[in-house]
Amino acid sequence: MTGRVQASAGDLLELVRSRRATTRGALQQATGLSRATVGQRLDRLFRAGWLREGAGGPVDSPLGGRPSITLEFDDEHAVVLAADLDTRHARAAVLSLSGEILAEHSGTLVVEDGPDAVLGELGRWFAELLEKAGHGAETVCGVGLAVPGPVDTETGRVVQPPIMPGWDGYDIRSRLARALTEHTGAEAVPVLVDNDANLMAYGEQRTGHPDCSAFVLVKVSTGIGAGVVVDGSVFRGIDGGAGDIGHIRVPEGAQALCRCGSYGCLAAVASGGAVARRLAEAGVPAASGSDVRDLLASGHPEAVGLAREAGRRVGDVLATVVTLLNPGVLMIAGDLAGTPFLTGVRELLYQRALPRSTAHLDVVTSRLGERAGLVGAGAMVVEHLYAPERVEERLRALGV
Ligand SMILES: [Zn+2]
Repeated sequence: MTGRVQASAGDLLELVRSRRATTRGALQQATGLSRATVGQRLDRLFRAGWLREGAGGPVDSPLGGRPSITLEFDDEHAVVLAADLDTRHARAAVLSLSGEILAEHSGTLVVEDGPDAVLGELGRWFAELLEKAGHGAETVCGVGLAVPGPVDTETGRVVQPPIMPGWDGYDIRSRLARALTEHTGAEAVPVLVDNDANLMAYGEQRTGHPDCSAFVLVKVSTGIGAGVVVDGSVFRGIDGGAGDIGHIRVPEGAQALCRCGSYGCLAAVASGGAVARRLAEAGVPAASGSDVRDLLASGHPEAVGLAREAGRRVGDVLATVVTLLNPGVLMIAGDLAGTPFLTGVRELLYQRALPRSTAHLDVVTSRLGERAGLVGAGAMVVEHLYAPERVEERLRALGV
């Protein structure tokens, strides 16, 4: 005995999903399993409805002999629900297992109203979205939720969130699962929760920069947060606190009170909320990051100037981030993401960071825009539910 554990049905599914092996012959070769054992395991995946034969017709087998039928993950056997909460606004969608948005809704949802009301309302949105997409609630395999605060992903609870009053330690998973059941009558499904910047980073890296092994996304909206994806996985740190750069103290902010209760945070001087406040003081009507976004879109000169200045302040902090992580892509997302802010970031970043850490760095704006969080949340659910270690239990539950 070599002690090598035999490849499971979950391992075979993983090989097919990642397209590293897509024929029976290639799976035999990749796993060392016999033809009969591969056949038995694939049979269970077919009976679960998780695999289908590829459209492309037979291809030559790596083991010789008859050409093989290609196999692929059946991304139509279930759907995922995803939602992205901002402080005063939310977006929700039904997604296919491959991340395509099948139905989408956005509207006012105020985080300060508290988790019970907000998650109850999301349950109603999801029921309407399923109807719009023409999918029964029984096809939902899981729910992913992005929130604007630090999350303990083990429990799905937010931890001392500065801009989510009343949410600290609340059992988001149970409440959202119950809301979905209340509005659709379906059985409870797994609910996964993560920080919005993490999920935006995950969504953007997977869809637009899959080969980038060190990816950083900075979301600048009402607050400021960063998501870090290393080797394809979100880097969360030991308490889910990685990337929470909005509350780093900056010298220019000594007099500025942050929503976290401290003075001098980066978010208090350079977020969408901070820019809105400065504009309001100058007599320009603006109350939130999204108001600033609208002003920037119309080229409002004071908004443009303040966004560039905010970019410089964030760029100063990002010089440290970039020096520490040496990312290939630094993406700016959120309400302030645009040319003036990006120009400010570049000015300070290239001035303060070592040339070696920026030589191969691309500083870019978001590609998925307002959908990044939804795409990331959907992908998080799919990667969790179809991970090799979870497949056996789920197949058994399906009775195959
Ligand atoms: Zn703060």
